[in-house]
This record gives sequence, structure tokens and C-alpha cells, in this order.
Amino acid sequence: MLILQIAIPTPLRRQFDYLVPRGFDSANLQPGMRVKVPFGRRQTVGIILAIVDYSDVPANKLKPVQAILDTSPVLPTDILELLLWASRYYQHAIGEVMTHGLPALLRQGEPASGKGQTGWRITSVGQDSDPSELKRAARQAALLIQLQQAGSDGLDTASLNLSHSHWRPSMNKLLEKGWVEKFERSPLVQRNTQTLQSPLSLNEAQQNAVDQLRANLGHFQSILLNGVTGSGKTEVYLQLIQTVLDRQQQVMVLVPEIGLTPQLVQRFTQRLACPIAVLHSGLNDTERLNAWLAASRGEAGVVIGTRSALFTPLKNPGLFILDEEHDLSFKQQDGFRYNARDLAIVRAQKSQVPIVLGTATPSLESLHNVERKRSLMLSLPQRAGEANPPTFRLLDIRSQKLEHGLGQQLLTGVQTCLERGQQALLFLNRRGFAPVIMCHDCSWHARCLRCDAHMTAHQGINRLRCHHCGSERPIPKTCPDCESENLSLVGAGTERVEEVLQQRFPDYKVLRIDRDSTRRKGSMQAMLDEIHQGKPMILLGTQMLAKGHHFPNVTLVGLLDADYGLFSADFRATERMGQLILQVAGRSGRAELPGEVLIQTHQPENPLLHLLMRHDYPSFSKALMEERKESELPPFTHLALLRAEAPAPQIALQFLQEAKALFDQTPMNDLFLFGPVPAPMERRAGRYRAQLLIQHSHRHALQQWLSVQIAKVETMKSARKVRWSIDVDPMEMY
Ligand code: ADP
Ligand code: ZN
Ligand code: ZN
Repeated sequence: MLILQIAIPTPLRRQFDYLVPRGFDSANLQPGMRVKVPFGRRQTVGIILAIVDYSDVPANKLKPVQAILDTSPVLPTDILELLLWASRYYQHAIGEVMTHGLPALLRQGEPASGKGQTGWRITSVGQDSDPSELKRAARQAALLIQLQQAGSDGLDTASLNLSHSHWRPSMNKLLEKGWVEKFERSPLVQRNTQTLQSPLSLNEAQQNAVDQLRANLGHFQSILLNGVTGSGKTEVYLQLIQTVLDRQQQVMVLVPEIGLTPQLVQRFTQRLACPIAVLHSGLNDTERLNAWLAASRGEAGVVIGTRSALFTPLKNPGLFILDEEHDLSFKQQDGFRYNARDLAIVRAQKSQVPIVLGTATPSLESLHNVERKRSLMLSLPQRAGEANPPTFRLLDIRSQKLEHGLGQQLLTGVQTCLERGQQALLFLNRRGFAPVIMCHDCSWHARCLRCDAHMTAHQGINRLRCHHCGSERPIPKTCPDCESENLSLVGAGTERVEEVLQQRFPDYKVLRIDRDSTRRKGSMQAMLDEIHQGKPMILLGTQMLAKGHHFPNVTLVGLLDADYGLFSADFRATERMGQLILQVAGRSGRAELPGEVLIQTHQPENPLLHLLMRHDYPSFSKALMEERKESELPPFTHLALLRAEAPAPQIALQFLQEAKALFDQTPMNDLFLFGPVPAPMERRAGRYRAQLLIQHSHRHALQQWLSVQIAKVETMKSARKVRWSIDVDPMEMY
């Protein structure tokens, strides 16, 4: 009796057993193939995890699978193993984890073939064959020459029809000889037809980095490429990638945000001759499948993508690169809460190839790995080319009169910059017009009805919007409590600052770049194009603007509010503030023009700020590291957060109390439980949230403990009354 263990997309943390259908040749079955199975009252697509000859379920209760959808595995062994590993590590249901490994069309059971066409290409034997040996078969010889020239790109029917009449019999002869093979040309992958730019000549630090990286190809090594902004990390990637491509291997490049991919793709296509597959959330299902197949079949030399691209199979991986490794968006914050950076390291290790983590502001986790010799650090301490590091100035805004968040010194700085004909970039991490709308007479203020939060006024659309649950309502004209018309908008978001700036500098364009102004497809690109024309203007944005962009004419960067990172309850807030300040500063003076960074703060004496002003990220991170060590926080300990939410506050807390009581029955050394407590924002989207923090000094021990305990939690009666989840290595603590 053959049993298939199948992963099925459901939140249940288990696999399901099915029988092999009668009369099916089981010799062809392999893990990683898709099957169609009955599940409850529906049919669904599952993935074969294993083929075994036993089951805990009595044979007469087992159902046969309805169809085998593939003739060979869509998920190769390495990806299957990675997903299984991730499912165990993050304590997430295997069926849901598996769905991250497949493009939507494959999840729905569509055939694993692109919408491409058949092509013919030369084999290595064919490449070495001499066409003059085919003297008596002129057609074959002509075809052979043409295919040799086309190389691995091959030729499709259309182009063959153009150059030969009646070519099929000759092609079949070449196929029989094994000189030519048929393949499916992926429509997405096109060979670069532009003339390629040549590599830059590297400076000493870059050359050293490239040399050391090359020396590490062919085996696993995690490498932290710590290069200040503008130090030419991308050039290092490009030259290293070329080496890997020359070895006939593929490279996967992960970037934090979809907004950055077009820029990077452009730089890559200008330099690399190989086909590049791009995977990000902006693709439609067919495009995504095609790119996925191109990567998985080895047709794409380079695969560029955001977080979820990590699970794309590669036929012949040679290198992984993760750019801006410190960036939070590599961590998925809901559902399957994996960290793509950490999983990429696991994947590189399984593939026995190196992984490069690039950043100007390494995360403490990565620095800790360097300290423990788990990772090798290479540094690019200086900006490449002509650019010099920007100068910093702290602007003391204590008891200063601010015009909606803008101090006089900052405004003067902007003015001078514009008059020089250059661009100023102002940064405020708060979108909308005003974060609070308040009645001047009775102090009523607009709160979200579903969250413990204020509603932000958006003047453009004349509505109040909750940034936590998305609910909206019109901005009232009079106070709902006392009917006074004396309503005031308190505080400033990007919309309001935009208005102030536009009034103050009527002759210059103010470009606001935040989630609201870039919602429409293509709008971000249009704005980037406008910036790149280089006219003097003010760019005003949220952290979207902090990342990776290259604006040659920006010479002034201003931070309206640097203080929030110094006051936050989240232990990672200061680290993030430092990273943000240096990233934003990195947007200034990247070309020949010198740059200046102005930072408004109420804490001009803060020693951490002063380290950042001196570009001393190493001392800054060292200071934070000491703090973390003393308070026994990551990366020195490991955390997991058990979260619960319910329609009433007591239910979530009670569930967590019971879970804790359960955990207390099996105590373990070095394990600490904190809570349960209500979440910092207890009510969100109408549900009450609470959390229990679990801490242990050893990652592995914590994982094993969790595996046992989470299985118990799953069977708790009170678990059915709440929505609960476990977040291993949480990055945000609310
Ligand atoms: P990073 O990725 O570290 O922020 P980039 O790779 O974007 O830096 O490089 C910043 C700028 O410096 C780019 O305009 C790039 O063309 C230029 N650059 C990089 N390396 C060199 C070099 N060796 N010589 C001259 N210019 C360089
Ligand atoms: Zn009122
Ligand atoms: Zn809300």
C-alpha cells in the first residue's frame, strides 16, 4: 500500500495522507509534484511531501488522490527542504508555507509550462560539431551554423520559417544526432540587445571586496558587505555576478522594495548580457509564472525580486545577494512570518554557495554574526567616484517657533539650496495632512471607531482615514459633540508640509512622495523621472524615499523629526532611527556636488546622534550592542511572540493566560515568559489584542520547545475563540 503525504493549503499544522489511485504507475511519483485531492467538501491542489508505506489513519478511511498534475516535480528538492525547514522554524502550517513556494497559477493547478513557444537550440555536442562534415546535407549544415550562432538562446518557429523553407526534416535529423534539442522558450526572458556598458575600474576597497568574494565562490559563506552609501556596492555586485555567470551559474538578488527593482534592473541590463527574470508583487499571474519558470529552468542568469522571490527555484544557483539587509521589509509581518534574510542564509547554506548581505548600516543581528565568526565582513569605507560624504548639522528646535514642523534654519537651508539651482529632500515619516483633528472648545478629537488610534486628516480627499485599519469617514465641519465650528488640525503630515512649502516657495515645484501620492501604477516612476531631470525642486517624502535611490542633484537633506526613535517603546527603534538617518543622508551629495544634512531635534546633546553625525555607525551600533547585551535582548537572546486577538478584551488575555499555565507545566532552564499583556495598541480593526513574549538564550532550544508547545496550544479549547499566531524572531513588538 502506497501512501502520499501531502501538504494542503490550510492553517492546520499537519500533513494529510492519501492513497495512490488504482492503476497508477507509482514509479513516476516524486516529492514536489502537485496532486488534486478531495479535502472536506472541496477539491484542492496539494504538494507531495513524501511517499511512504504507512499511515496512522486506518486504510479504509483514506481517500485516493484524484489526479497527479505533474510529470516531474515543480518544486525541486532544495526548495521543498527549505520550505519544510521554514515551516518547522517559524511554527507555521506546512500547507500555507508551501503556497509561498508556488506562483498563483500553479497553486490553482494550471500546467507548469509557460505560455511560451517551442524553440530549438544547439547542444554542447552540436556546438563542437563541424558543419563541413555535413557536405552532403546542405540544409542540415546551414541550420547547424545558424543554431551555433544563436547559442543558448536558440531559434523559434517564426524565425526558422523566415530563413528556411521546409526545415523540419533536417531539424529532426539534427535532433536524432543529439546536436540540437527542443526546449520551451520562455516569452519573458529576452536576451539583452543593447550595447553593453563596460565595467568601471574599481577602487582599492572595491577590488579587495571583489577578490575576496570571488575567492568564496563555490562554497557556503555568509559575507556582510558593509559599504557606506554611494561606496559602489552595486558595482561590486555586478562584477561578482559576471564571474558567477561565466561559471554557468545563476544569481539571485533580493531587494527590499518593488520601487527599487526598475532602477536596479536597468543598471543590470546595461551591464549583463544574460536574460534577467524579475519577480515582484506588481506582476500579473502569467508574468509571474513565466519569470518563475525562467528561473527554475535555468534560462534566466539573474533573478531579481522582493522578499517572496526567495522561494523561486534555481536550476544552478551560484550566488545569493541580499541588498539593504537591515531593511525591515524582508520580514513578513503577517501570516507566514518569515524573515527572507535569515532564510536566504539557510538556502545558501543548503546550496553550498555564498550569500552577500549588502548595507551601509548593518543590522545588529548581522554584526553579531560577524563577531561570532559566522559571517565575514568586507568594508567599503569611502564613497566611490567623486562624491564626498555629506556634512551633518543638528538643528536645536527646543523653544523654536515651528511652521508646521519646519524650523527657520531648515527653511533657510532649503532656500539657499534652491537658489543654487539644486534639489532639497525633506523627510517626514508621517503621511496625510494632520494626525489629529480636535475641537478647540470641548477637546473632542477624531478617533477611529475600531482602533485605539487617532484618525489622520487627508485634505486632498477631504476625509479622515485610520492608518491602522483603513477605515474612512468625511472630515466633519462641526464638532460632533458640541457643534462648535472651531475645529483645528493638530500636527503636520506630509500633505500639510507640502502645502506650507508650496506657499513659502511658490516658484519651485514641491513633489510629495508617499504611499498616498504613489498609489497609482506608474506614478512613482513618473516622479522619479521628473527628479532625474535635475531642475531645482523640493522633494518631500516618507521613508519610501530613504531607500537606495540615486538623485544626483540633491544636495540638501532635512529630517523634520529625528526624535521619535529616541522615545519609542520598541527596543529596536533607536537602531532603526540610526539606519534611517544615515540612509536618508546617503541620498545627499551622491554625485560631484557636496551634500549637507540638517536634522531637527529636541535632543541636540544626545550622544548617539553625535556618533551618527560623525558617520560613526560602527560606534553607534557598538553602543546599541552593549545595551542589548545588558538587557538580554536580541541578538543575545531569541524571542517569540504569541499573539491573540478577539472581539472582547478578556478573551484574548484569558487564552494567553491558559497558554502560559500550560507552558509552566514544562519549565525549561533559561526560558522566560513575559506577560500576557494587552498589545500597545490594544484595539485594532474592532478586535482586542494581547501578547505573550517568550525568550530563550538559545535559538535551537527555543525552536524545539516551541514545536512541542505550539502543538499543545493548537488543541486548546480556548484557542478556538481567538485568532492566534506565533511570531518567531519578531521584528515589531506591537
Ligand atoms: P551603493 O550601492 O554602495 O550605494 P553605487 O554602486 O550606487 O553605491 O555607486 C554610487 C555611485 O558611484 C554610482 O554613480 C556609481 O556609478 C559610482 N561608482 C561606483 N564605483 C565606482 C568606481 N570604481 N569608479 C567610479 N565611480 C564609481
Ligand atoms: Zn466640541
Ligand atoms: Zn482604525
